[in-house]
Amino acid sequence: MPRTVEVRGFLLPYFPVNRTKPITNGIILLLQITGMRIFLASALLMAAPLMITNTSFAKDKKTVKQLKKQIGYLASDELEGRRTGTAGEKKAAEYIINYYSQNGIPAYKGNYRYPFTFISGKEIMPLTSISINGKKVTDLEEVFPLPFSVNSKRANGDALPGVLEHGNIWMMPIFADADEAKDAHFDWEKVAHEKAKDAAKQGATAVLFYDSYGAKYTPEFNKKSDYEALDIPVAMMLHKGYQKYVENHEGSVAVDMMVVLKKAEMTGTNLAAYIDNGAKYTVVLGAHYDHLGHGEDGNSLHAKKDGQIHNGADDNASGTAALMQLGVKIKNSKLKHYNYLLLHFSGEELGLLGSKAIVKEEKLDSTKIAYMINMDMVGRLNDSTHALTVGGIGTSPIWGKMIDKNNPAFKITYDSAGVGPSDHSSFYYQNIPVLFFFTGLHTDYHKPSDDADKINYKGQAMLQNYIYDVVGKMEKEPKPAFTATKQSTVGKVRFKVTLGVMPDYSYQDGGVRIDGVTDNKPAQKAGMKGGDIIIQLGDNKITGMQTYMEALGKFAEGDKTQVKVMRDGKELSLPIEFTSNK
Ligand SMILES: [Zn+2]
Repeated sequence: MPRTVEVRGFLLPYFPVNRTKPITNGIILLLQITGMRIFLASALLMAAPLMITNTSFAKDKKTVKQLKKQIGYLASDELEGRRTGTAGEKKAAEYIINYYSQNGIPAYKGNYRYPFTFISGKEIMPLTSISINGKKVTDLEEVFPLPFSVNSKRANGDALPGVLEHGNIWMMPIFADADEAKDAHFDWEKVAHEKAKDAAKQGATAVLFYDSYGAKYTPEFNKKSDYEALDIPVAMMLHKGYQKYVENHEGSVAVDMMVVLKKAEMTGTNLAAYIDNGAKYTVVLGAHYDHLGHGEDGNSLHAKKDGQIHNGADDNASGTAALMQLGVKIKNSKLKHYNYLLLHFSGEELGLLGSKAIVKEEKLDSTKIAYMINMDMVGRLNDSTHALTVGGIGTSPIWGKMIDKNNPAFKITYDSAGVGPSDHSSFYYQNIPVLFFFTGLHTDYHKPSDDADKINYKGQAMLQNYIYDVVGKMEKEPKPAFTATKQSTVGKVRFKVTLGVMPDYSYQDGGVRIDGVTDNKPAQKAGMKGGDIIIQLGDNKITGMQTYMEALGKFAEGDKTQVKVMRDGKELSLPIEFTSNK
């Protein structure tokens, strides 16, 4: 028995199919017997043109079986959420590579693995030394240095809580009162940075914050912090340290501190397999295979920070399996008009790090790439809405012809933008036409509950057939023309205004480096370019993503100000007018 679908209140037998044929005013029952199609029935449906495509039902069954196996493994606890640079990522990589080599798809330029390094945050180095009343503090739950401390500069003195004198160490309370110590919304790090910055200006040689109340949400070292570094050492004494060193201590507190921090580097690994047909141009098919691990990077939407594994079945074991299967299907097909480069990106969840790295470092010749298809979250096709978002439609005039909105199997929504919340953006910025397939957000998105048992396997098989058809149709077309597009409307944080830039999330050297600007948006109109580093927006100094987002939040549509950028080592001030973020 076929599964049923609900169409306008009727439950109908439903077959995923693949060659398009417009049929109006009919309900279609389609049976397929090897090579022969029999169309049965038609009745009563006052629907818009309905299109039907054909595929082998038996083949889909095999696909579903394979998908269950592959997504089941990639999204299993054994891989611990495939966080970039971890053992789980490596296991996933091994699995993907094995699949390609077993199926005779060779490595790209002799290597399946393309590692890239990135700054994963700041690390407290063992040379850090903080002594209170002559005792060296070793427990970070008593005292820990703050990430915006000066590096390797020693300060010492006899401090008295609340006594703020020039040329001495200042001991200041972090919480103004007991209520603040209980407030979940109190941004202690921001307050600490502001106060310490001010203290440095007023001649403090170091700042030691202390918690005399006992915070409900205990501050901890934020390795991802991007507050600008100050020129004095700064540390936080938690309640435990306060009770031990200060509470029952008479007189001043002898403080000696030196903070040594290091930028921590990690290595992620992109994977590349290559079907070389000796063609002039290459098609890139891509999907990221990394996910959130246990949520260590702060990108989880899980309310409890309890370290659960985020299996990432839909995001993006689904796209990973789709890419593996499409790759093998293409290799075994008659599609030889293009070469096919199969790219599995890592670091996507940290800001498209892998796709940016492979585009830049491996010097993929963008003029030789015909187009790129990205699959990110393709496993949750909704059986009643059949909603499918296809992004990048505006990046080539050909896409409107290839992606027919009147498809029976999917209710397709176009997103014209070449820039979106996934790796196709990195290719769009190289002037490569892109398509992005996405079955939509859901309540398990970026939560530990994004599990394999929630995947719509038949739906994904159907989508894979559809993508394969698009690739097949493109074989008959010359290298598609590229067109620039507007900013995406899918996903991501919303602000009232936009600059129209794509920030480089991997850049950590002060300011916000941009990878590109969107046509007809304020940044482009102001004359900003990819590679510029934003250092000031109006009166707001920009030291990193955090200060950038805060600054952006202060502007409204129509506001005019100056944006300061660094370009080739020179500072430029450009007039900018904000437009609404729509
Ligand atoms: Zn994601």
